[in-house]
Amino acid sequence: MARYTGPVCKLCRREGDKLFLKGERCSSSKCAFERREHPPGQHGRGRRLKRSEYGIQLREKQKIKRIYGMQEQQFHNFYEKAMRQKGITGEQLLQMLESRLDNVIYRIGFAPSRRSARMLVTQRHVEVNEHIVDIPSYILSPGDVIKIREKSRKLMLIHDAMKRVKEGRLVPYVQLDKAKMEGMFVSYPTRDAIPIRAQEQMVVELYSK
Ligand code: SF4
Repeated sequence: MARYTGPVCKLCRREGDKLFLKGERCSSSKCAFERREHPPGQHGRGRRLKRSEYGIQLREKQKIKRIYGMQEQQFHNFYEKAMRQKGITGEQLLQMLESRLDNVIYRIGFAPSRRSARMLVTQRHVEVNEHIVDIPSYILSPGDVIKIREKSRKLMLIHDAMKRVKEGRLVPYVQLDKAKMEGMFVSYPTRDAIPIRAQEQMVVELYSK
């Protein structure tokens, strides 16, 4: 299935929650969800909210998938890998999603959204442990050092994103050295450290049907 290229704010309204897909705009009064919470479409406002169990599970899966900007097959592959790991599958899934290179770039603050983080990676602006990595879904290990390449440091996107970063407010599993434009993926996150409002166990329930 092709990647969604339509208006991303519609996705937040569809899922009934802020998915933070547009960077700075998401925290401003311009956020479309803040202005119109009801689902998009002609009948969105009057749509009944009562959902079946399957409907709820499906929406939670779609929500998490959209937060991380993934396509169905890729997301399902992540789920299968999570299932093979020790521990609670839903939590393992979130932990793997948080360990993706594009996500960590966003968490460190090199990019205002995961979407722009993906662009930085595919356009070869990022190094992991001194080597260029151009695969957004690359899974990091604790201790990996993520750096913006020397020649890319003046990019406006990175420059603006860096200005907004508050080092003391990063998630506990990443670190940033602003002066060196260098960050680190410190550890795999625990569930309570991941700032995502979602019921990941619903994904497990849905896929195990
Ligand atoms: Fe969602 Fe951000 Fe758009 Fe608000 S501005 S609706 S949080 S993508």
